[in-house]
Amino acid sequence: MSESYQLHCRQCGRLLGNSPVAMCDECIAPLEVAFDLESLKGQLTREGIASRPQNLWRYRELLPIPADARPDLPVGFTPLLDAPRLGGRLKVQNLYVKNDAVCLPSLSFKDRVVAVALERARAFGLRVVGCASTGNLANAVAAQAARGGFEAWVFVPAGIEPTKLVASAIYGARVVPINGSYDQVNRLCSLVADQFHWGLVNVNLRPYYAEGSKTVGFEIAEQLGWRLPDNVVVPMAGGALISRIRKGFDELVAVGLVEPKPVKFFGAQATGCSPISSAVKQGLKFPEPQKPRTICHSLAIGNPADGHQAIEVITSSGGWAEDVSDEEIIAGMELLAATEGVFTETAGGVVVGVARKLVEQGRIRPEETTVLAITGNGLKTTEALTGKLQFLPAVEPRLAAFEALLTEVGAPVLATR
Ligand SMILES: *Cc1c(COP(=O)(O)O)cnc(C)c1O
Ligand SMILES: [Zn+2]
Repeated sequence: MSESYQLHCRQCGRLLGNSPVAMCDECIAPLEVAFDLESLKGQLTREGIASRPQNLWRYRELLPIPADARPDLPVGFTPLLDAPRLGGRLKVQNLYVKNDAVCLPSLSFKDRVVAVALERARAFGLRVVGCASTGNLANAVAAQAARGGFEAWVFVPAGIEPTKLVASAIYGARVVPINGSYDQVNRLCSLVADQFHWGLVNVNLRPYYAEGSKTVGFEIAEQLGWRLPDNVVVPMAGGALISRIRKGFDELVAVGLVEPKPVKFFGAQATGCSPISSAVKQGLKFPEPQKPRTICHSLAIGNPADGHQAIEVITSSGGWAEDVSDEEIIAGMELLAATEGVFTETAGGVVVGVARKLVEQGRIRPEETTVLAITGNGLKTTEALTGKLQFLPAVEPRLAAFEALLTEVGAPVLATR
């Protein structure tokens, strides 16, 4: 095997080479990509990585792409913002926001997983790509397939946010709304992948796709000065992001780029679709499937593919999982925007709301370094805010009219000439 990575079954331990499959046919367990980290030790240095362009390809030796691949789309390396004003409101001192609301090209962290999956699709000679998506993934596949010269078919539950349909169709992708839940869409996509030999990024390319999530962890560590945080709070849909941030941290330690340190993993879900957080609270090892009912469509996966692994990561790290109501999600979106100037989608509202609960429960302590994973852009879910924000009435373009408005709304006049 010329490549330094291959598929691995965590259940039976078999190594399976590289091909577009997601399940071990013996144990029906999800496969993941294992790297020969020993061979990378000493090869990768902090200075070497720092000298490369600011995108996720700077970690290419730790991504399952062919050695001769020349990806050039600048995906990732989003800002890690310190968040003192939000921290003040949540009563913690060392709070950071990893801002994937501005991940390029399609404004969610899904650009990372798609970037890696499409390099793999190309290596496998697949010309048609697609996904089962709640919206953001469809946007990322559609955008990057267009630039990469792939044909794209994206499958979504009918009834997701109209903006997310538009932001897929514009790229020329075929958008297929399905009358059913995300979990039904996903099952259909498994059949489609088998029947037509397409590369469905989160279905038959899922182990490779999931590796893209590691780059959130790589970047957090590098941006903290090659140091791991004490806590991360991560939104969970299928459970890949939270479990692969952990894999990313572990790999950085294994190749000698960061010092080992315990990191607590905290998972965040909407109460209306909370199979993973419910399992953690009940002490279960596997999630029990749920029927989603929440405004947070991007996290509405009732039967999470990496749920078991997410639960394992959370509980073995000494972390916890929580969930929040639709009202708390909106309040979280407003709080993050009003304190740090970051307009996130509903999933970010989930993270902020859950972080607040975790601090109140004493599970996140004020002096610890905590990173909130903000994964998507608020402009894609403005529907969730309909009727929630206060707007002023229109006034005539005259100073007197504006002064009358000031009096009417009782706004304090801060300075006059
Ligand atoms: C998909 C998604 C997630 C969760 O990702 P999983 O890896 O499926 O757990 C979080 N936030 C946003 C905005 C997403 O689109
Ligand atoms: Zn197996």
